[in-house]
Amino acid sequence: MDVDTVLTAESYDAAVNAAGCVIEAIKDVMEGKGRNAFCVVRPAGHHAGPQGASEAMVEQGSKTRSHGFCLLSNVAIGAAHAMANRLAARVAIVDFDVHHGNGTEEVIRNLKPWRYKHVADTPLGEVAFDTLAEGPWLTERDSENVFFCSIHGFGEYSTGSPYTGLFYPGLGGATEEPNILNIPLGPKFGTQDFRREKLLPRLHSFKPDLVLVSAGFDGHEADFMNYGLVSLTEDDFFWVTDKLCEVAEVTCGGKLVSILEGGYNTNGGPLSPLARRFICFSPPLLCLSSSTLDLLSPPHASPACPRTCELC
Ligand SMILES: [Zn+2]
Repeated sequence: MDVDTVLTAESYDAAVNAAGCVIEAIKDVMEGKGRNAFCVVRPAGHHAGPQGASEAMVEQGSKTRSHGFCLLSNVAIGAAHAMANRLAARVAIVDFDVHHGNGTEEVIRNLKPWRYKHVADTPLGEVAFDTLAEGPWLTERDSENVFFCSIHGFGEYSTGSPYTGLFYPGLGGATEEPNILNIPLGPKFGTQDFRREKLLPRLHSFKPDLVLVSAGFDGHEADFMNYGLVSLTEDDFFWVTDKLCEVAEVTCGGKLVSILEGGYNTNGGPLSPLARRFICFSPPLLCLSSSTLDLLSPPHASPACPRTCELC
């Protein structure tokens, strides 16, 4: 579809199954069949907007409306399903992938009336579209009941040719709107910047009854997709998961569904850097004990879940 989004004959099934997995997980969690869920699915979804590739990229001057490997906005489809079927009335979406969740943000903005502007080349010449569009999931007040936050790399960087330019996708500058919070961390960042607590008070005060997490692991120091600019570690993924689980515990009985976004260093199979990040991400979700963690990943074990519950 573009330079980084390739389709095969199986891509459609994979994309539909990924989104369907998220829907099933949300249903199970909201019906109490599980405390939480982690959907390890591909393709990722957070760069796909309501019209496919993100319109905002065009408006900001991008020549390609890149999908960034994404076909369907899995997390937004899950949120829409939850609200349209009255499984949840207030949904928070938190995206900690190293890249801005521009597609998800565009879907959330689409919940308010907006103008669809597009110029199409036709055999008769250019045709300009300028129409009012609106896509509510349940009611016209949907946008008051969905909170989206993305924490990500942002700005110009240079690591020498060919890696120079705007941190992908070049969007996600600071915003503080009632239902959209972008936290750009600059093109180069690490643990201290990532652990700023700006997001957590907003999440608490929003009082979601379902927390969805776009969990991307490409901010890890060993992941080539951040060009060596970002230096997050397994502990940071443990930390953010633990904090999000804590908010979910307080506001909605722990109802949290995570969906895999980025994370690309899979060399090494079950003990690859990506797999080890899953293990570090999992303890707060599963309340794993430290002895279980030792068995799973001896050289890279993270601290066990600090909370106590009936599963610990
Ligand atoms: Zn990413």
